Amino acid sequence: MPHAREQLLSAELLSRYAGPCPRYTSYPTADRFVALEGGKQGGGRDDGEIQPWQALKDVETLSLYVHIPFCRSLCYFCACNKVITQQYGLASHYLENVLKEAQWYRDRVARAPVVQLHLGGGTPTFLNDGDLRRLVEGLGDIFDLRTDDDVEYSIEADPRTLGIETLDTLRELGFNRLSLGIQDFNPDVQRAINRVCSVEQVRELTENARAKGFGSISYDLIYGLPGQDVASLEKTVDAVLDLAPDRIALYHYAHLPERFKSQRLIDSDLMPAPSEKIAMQLAATRRLTEAGYVFLGMDHFARPEDALSQAAAEGRLARNFQGYTLMPADALVGLGASAISYSKDGYWQNQHSLKQYAAAISERGEAISRGWQLSDDDRLRQWLIMELMCHLSIDKREIEQRTGLPFAAGFGAELARLQPMFDDGLLGQTKGDLFVTERGRWFLRNAAAAFDSYLHSTETAARYSRVL
Ligand code: SF4
Repeated sequence: MPHAREQLLSAELLSRYAGPCPRYTSYPTADRFVALEGGKQGGGRDDGEIQPWQALKDVETLSLYVHIPFCRSLCYFCACNKVITQQYGLASHYLENVLKEAQWYRDRVARAPVVQLHLGGGTPTFLNDGDLRRLVEGLGDIFDLRTDDDVEYSIEADPRTLGIETLDTLRELGFNRLSLGIQDFNPDVQRAINRVCSVEQVRELTENARAKGFGSISYDLIYGLPGQDVASLEKTVDAVLDLAPDRIALYHYAHLPERFKSQRLIDSDLMPAPSEKIAMQLAATRRLTEAGYVFLGMDHFARPEDALSQAAAEGRLARNFQGYTLMPADALVGLGASAISYSKDGYWQNQHSLKQYAAAISERGEAISRGWQLSDDDRLRQWLIMELMCHLSIDKREIEQRTGLPFAAGFGAELARLQPMFDDGLLGQTKGDLFVTERGRWFLRNAAAAFDSYLHSTETAARYSRVL
């Protein structure tokens, strides 16, 4: 008998909704941000028109993100902002800039508990233990870091280079969540993407991380990679299930060699056909849900006892630039090249390239290059999109109270765009709610996109990766 999930999701449906679509880690999406005038020496940045960081003075909780862009070798599929280098000195110098940037925030942020700290990259564990310590202790001089396990302090790690002893350092520094980039265990696929890592390496790390008290271990997997097929991916998923991570992100690989130089190193003859990718998504999803993982939405799965699954069941999930979270903070301060920050007033993003980032920090202590001040309409749509993505429903009455208009009158064009999703049983409506159905969870990006006024004001869809 076919599994219930299989009945809910069909290849035809997946292929129909596979068009380009943003991931909505922010609204508006980062590609809408506008250039901000270069700040002047001595804090002139605060004289500009767009200055959402001013709202940092009022926050009661804070998130911190630090971008560490260095990696020792290039994974061919990579679309991240990274620098491949063997020169450790670059990282050391970069760290000084990050800590200098943190200083810029010292008088601009309320002394609020940091409920989330995330080191992303690149490869944050490119830093040696001494520099990891220097970074976190330096941040602790400026921000109110916590060492209890009621906070989410996470780090992205490359299992090929993360040493067991570094796990001790990370725990001492307060990290309680570990995210391992697995991608695929098949040796042919690993060679095709230049990222070779054995199951045994990952097992050793996972077991040690658990023993040392990391409360949540998350794996990233990718489907649609060169050389993958359904059978090989199923084997990878089985090996992953054997290691039983708390959370799994199953990402789609978007092959855009014209945009990402490193992807030109992939042999395009090895790329699976779109129909094969869909079959892979179905097969991996089936394997994971049959094994008891809860599908949270988008591409995220968690064990039923994991706090994220429980939060989803209780309507407490939130979303930020790193994906789903339990601890939404009032604001995020992003440090490092290309890092994005937000407050209730808007977003701001740092210079993308290492060179420009370093020059900006040495010139004025911050490296803000782009940003966005939220309008009332942005705030409403931001809330709508987050409600859909995290709580899988929109309370129409609440919207009506906010806008003073019947929902159908205020969002007539959006409802028309969503009509195919209603017809396909991906969304439903009552008088009070618009909600995502069980099988609609795979299409949250599509539903959210209907409320994106910028996406529909200009023809820009081609900028986004395909859902499949
Ligand atoms: S996938 Fe990760 S480790 Fe590989 S090059 Fe990209 S950022 Fe570096």
